[in-house]
Amino acid sequence: MGLVVFGQIGGIAGIMRRKRSDGESRPMTLGGALAARVRLIVWCKACRHQAEPDVADQVARSGADTTVIDWASRLRCSACDSREVDFVVSGATR
Ligand SMILES: [Zn+2]
Repeated sequence: MGLVVFGQIGGIAGIMRRKRSDGESRPMTLGGALAARVRLIVWCKACRHQAEPDVADQVARSGADTTVIDWASRLRCSACDSREVDFVVSGATR
C-alpha cells in the first residue's frame, strides 16, 4: 500500500473546500492530487488574480506529502503579493 488517494475520483467533480465536516478522513496531498489528476485552481481574494498551477510542478517544489491545504496556505498572489488566497480542487480531466 503506497499512496492512498481518492480511488473513485468520479465523485469529486464539484468543489472541495476546506471543510471539516466532509467525511474525508484524509486530506488530499499534492502527490494525491497529481495521482488523481485533479486541477488546482487558486485565486487572490484581494485582486481576483486567478491561476491554475501545474500540479506536477508544485509536487516538485513542495513535495508529494504536502497537503493541498498546507500548500495553499503558503501561496501568495503573484500579481499583488497578497496572502489572501483561496483555492478549489477541480475534478479529474480524463
Ligand atoms: Zn492579488
